[in-house]
Amino acid sequence: MSQLLKASIARVLNSVHQVEIEAGREEGSVRVIAVTKYSDSAVTRQFAENGLLDLAENRAELLLQKQADLSDLTAVRWHLIGTLQRRKVKEIINSIDTFHALDSLPLAQEISKRAKHPISCLIEVNVSGELSKHGFKSSELEGVLAQISQLPNVLITGLMTMAPIDADDAELTHIFRTTRELRDQIKALDLVNCPCTELSMGMTRDYKIAIKEGATMVRIGRDFLNDD
Ligand SMILES: *Cc1c(COP(=O)(O)O)cnc(C)c1O
Repeated sequence: MSQLLKASIARVLNSVHQVEIEAGREEGSVRVIAVTKYSDSAVTRQFAENGLLDLAENRAELLLQKQADLSDLTAVRWHLIGTLQRRKVKEIINSIDTFHALDSLPLAQEISKRAKHPISCLIEVNVSGELSKHGFKSSELEGVLAQISQLPNVLITGLMTMAPIDADDAELTHIFRTTRELRDQIKALDLVNCPCTELSMGMTRDYKIAIKEGATMVRIGRDFLNDD
């Protein structure tokens, strides 16, 4: 298992580097976040031991469990990439490096209240406008940012998006490009607490397109477990 995972990690990192070069971007400039939600703590440990120090979970309880199991790995940065319920903010918010799915003003207010220092948060945007998805619509962003940026302990470091499961390449390109343009517009506003430089977009099926469109972080899970 451990050799297989090692080989998979090398394959994925190689592929990411290849796409960076093809896209005219600097090799190693995209942060690869390993999504460990399919792996137990022992396997998750192997990700870190193979140099992947950005680890992500989509559920607060599981992140806290793994963090406890792997508390000796002090260099790991933990990313919470899934929806967070307001009542769970208190127990997790001071344990993570970055929260990728900020999708409401009340959640931002709760984070700011419970955080002991400014927490790096990515605003989730829903460019495709699917009803079932989380995230702000493009049209809502400016208004909500004016309010969130008033919160002292929410540092808006960028935007995050997830493409619909059935999007084709043209649609993916459109979604990721639009998200990058929104990031640029928000960054230009120069709001307090809102550097907005990061773009968290791209998963196993679409990270190549996301990197071409400017992702600064990709969240990859399943691809690490494919052993072909
Ligand atoms: C699971 C998950 C990923 C990783 O998806 P893969 O298809 O396994 O690469 C990325 N982002 C979020 C928010 C997820 O929940």
